Amino acid sequence: MPWYPDAVGEDPRRALPAIDRLVTDALVARHGAARVAAHARAVVAEARERASEGVPTREALEARLAERLRAHVEPVINATGVVLHTNLGRAPWSPRAIEAAARASGYALVELDGASGRRGARGAGVEDRLRALTGAEAALTVNNGAAALVLALAALARGGRVIVSRGQLVEIGGGFRIPEILETSGAELVEVGTTNRTRASDYARAIDERTQAILWVHASNFRQVGFVASPSIAELTALGPPVIADLGSGALVPVEDEPVVGDAIAAGAELACFSGDKLLGGPQAGIALGRRASVERLARHPLARALRADKVTLAALEATLDGWLTGQDVPARAMIHAPLEALRAAVEGWRARLPRDVDAELLEVDGAIGGGSTPGRRWPSVALAIRAPSPEALRAALFLGTPRVLARIRDGALLLDARTVAPLGASDALVEALLAALARVREPSP
Ligand SMILES: *Cc1c(COP(=O)(O)O)cnc(C)c1O
Repeated sequence: MPWYPDAVGEDPRRALPAIDRLVTDALVARHGAARVAAHARAVVAEARERASEGVPTREALEARLAERLRAHVEPVINATGVVLHTNLGRAPWSPRAIEAAARASGYALVELDGASGRRGARGAGVEDRLRALTGAEAALTVNNGAAALVLALAALARGGRVIVSRGQLVEIGGGFRIPEILETSGAELVEVGTTNRTRASDYARAIDERTQAILWVHASNFRQVGFVASPSIAELTALGPPVIADLGSGALVPVEDEPVVGDAIAAGAELACFSGDKLLGGPQAGIALGRRASVERLARHPLARALRADKVTLAALEATLDGWLTGQDVPARAMIHAPLEALRAAVEGWRARLPRDVDAELLEVDGAIGGGSTPGRRWPSVALAIRAPSPEALRAALFLGTPRVLARIRDGALLLDARTVAPLGASDALVEALLAALARVREPSP
């Protein structure tokens, strides 16, 4: 049967296929009839709405349908240079973490103790490793960093007052604002100091019998410079009330001036909360660690059950921490510290494999760790800059390829940053995806 009806006539919408022509047995076998039908309807409806701009070919409609059906959490080559890209799932796991997670995805010892065979604490393996890495007495793992802070405040400060510097009433992103988190957890916020300067004496004056905690928040995603001052965690712990430190990024070893978890514990913090997928470089998780009595109060709180981490997360986290304990590479750390020389060599290697007529050059660029870490810091990196007739078309072709590649455009050039590609061993895959995308943008569109 011809695709276009004989009588296209005056109304271009009549040239569009019936929906069931797009619903093939092969697609249904692969994706299920319900999804294929829903997306086929949407593709045809979209084409009908835009019919005045031209009727797409059958191949174009099939391609759009295939694209919609493909949509799921699938791998992508991150050529943005942003190491902890929240839209791309933040930290890529180490091979060791991937293997541990796969092994734990069947039945696994989650709440049974391997030595005694008796009931054991969920997350005991993570806790054991974190104690060795940070000096904390105890640790609890939950679903993410925000959950760790909510749980800490609900368990330790509900119904009481929590003192926070006005300079630390921050928004982390995605609607996570410290004043609202405090309200959600049932604690009353007591603001002290000013936006740019808060002294230990400001906190001291605000302490009363209802004070449950002092909250210290790492203003992770912005920097204040100039006439600024705020007391250290050690100065705050000297004031008396327990200090809860929300570190966010949670570096285990110094990275720029990110707060180090072990330092917060050594400074006497009652609890430190941080994210598993920021500078720790592991799965999405939140960790609250510190004094045993307080961690146990968190673990007993009803919210702990609602926020708990699953077996795959716990297994990947254990393996990630093993990487830190043994000095083996955690990919996020390897990327953050990748030497510029190695990145230059990688980019030269990519360029050497492109056809001569592709206008591509090595460019020194500004990168970023991302995930709200180290804001305002220059993080020099190296990219391949490609000047194509339409950088947007090339970017789209890369994004729609298999595997997908996410790239940036700057000053009219498409940039492929080596920092988030080469240390992961993804150079060959990137070059192949690039060659395919270049071929796609060169061929005349159907
Ligand atoms: C990122 C961040 C959080 C939230 O952690 P998630 O793991 O993203 O939930 C909380 N506090 C600070 C200071 C952060 O930087």
